[in-house]
Amino acid sequence: MKDSFGREINYLRVSLTDRCNLRCEYCMPGKGVDKLEHGDIMTLEDTYEVIKVFVDLGIDKIRFTGGEPLVRLGIVDLISKVSKLEGVREIAMTTNGILLEKYAKSLKEAGLTRVNISLDTLNKERYRDITRGGDLDKVLNGIKAAKEVGLTPLKINTVLIGGFNDDEIPSLIDLTRDDIDVRFIELMPIGEAAGFAKEKFIPSSRILEAVKDLIPVVAEDKFSPALYYKLPGAKGKVGIINPISCKFCKSCNRVRLTSTGLLKLCLHSNREIDLKKAFENKEDIKKIISDAILTKEEEHHLEDKEYISRNMNQIGG
Ligand code: SAM
Ligand code: SF4
Repeated sequence: MKDSFGREINYLRVSLTDRCNLRCEYCMPGKGVDKLEHGDIMTLEDTYEVIKVFVDLGIDKIRFTGGEPLVRLGIVDLISKVSKLEGVREIAMTTNGILLEKYAKSLKEAGLTRVNISLDTLNKERYRDITRGGDLDKVLNGIKAAKEVGLTPLKINTVLIGGFNDDEIPSLIDLTRDDIDVRFIELMPIGEAAGFAKEKFIPSSRILEAVKDLIPVVAEDKFSPALYYKLPGAKGKVGIINPISCKFCKSCNRVRLTSTGLLKLCLHSNREIDLKKAFENKEDIKKIISDAILTKEEEHHLEDKEYISRNMNQIGG
């Protein structure tokens, strides 16, 4: 399905929960989030039905995210059902990796294609601090388990934070020697990070300054928002994603569904369409979705607007 700017929309990101087993400083408030009423969250049965409509309309890639998707009970069954839908080419997940050691095998068996794991530091204490209590060893074991069962190509997402992990750029890039892609993402002034994103913002160009022997390579996925590089002789790639200093709106192929059933056509817009209510009222959600796609924003204006009211744990990143 095409939007009104001729972009083919084939990628749906589904946030399954706004809850998380970590509290990353730039994402979630320290005390966690107010518990949503049970009725506010879309059931996994309804989520499946809505995904089915998206697939009918031409979505062929689905990514499950959150909050932390692996804290939502029933996720393995949902993936198993979605993987059987005709037309689904890829099912991916973005996770903090804490529960991955436990779930990797059953996720793979259910039909998950691959995982992106969020990891901002390789230092145990720093990891505990930025995530407010997380255990780095659990993530490293999760990465190992994901590789072993073949949830590959494995990608690590690292948010660049000034004064926190800018000195770790070379050691994080070293992970690519082991057939892992490492992608650096600029800190976005969203939700929790709205207050400090400006002062801790590091342009992703800093990566090329820190590691001089990176060689540009062509991305296999032409819609990927990352520019890719490689260390000589490394198996994995280094990705640089700069949503702020270099917009990728022109090739945006994605829309988002929140755990409360809201359709977001652009990560950086506050506009939302309530699919949960429409689904429960038995409205024609196929028409609602296809009409909505035609109203997808042409581009974001983060560089001058700077504050988006929802936190990333609610939207899914
Ligand atoms: N809990 C999962 C995880 O951490 O991978 C999935 C959800 S999390 C919201 C998705 C991604 O958003 C993570 O890679 C996280 O680092 C990123 N993120 C959260 N807040 C951000 C911000 N203000 N700027 C840039 N990335 C952010
Ligand atoms: Fe949780 Fe992911 Fe947000 Fe960290 S970035 S608090 S792991 S949802």
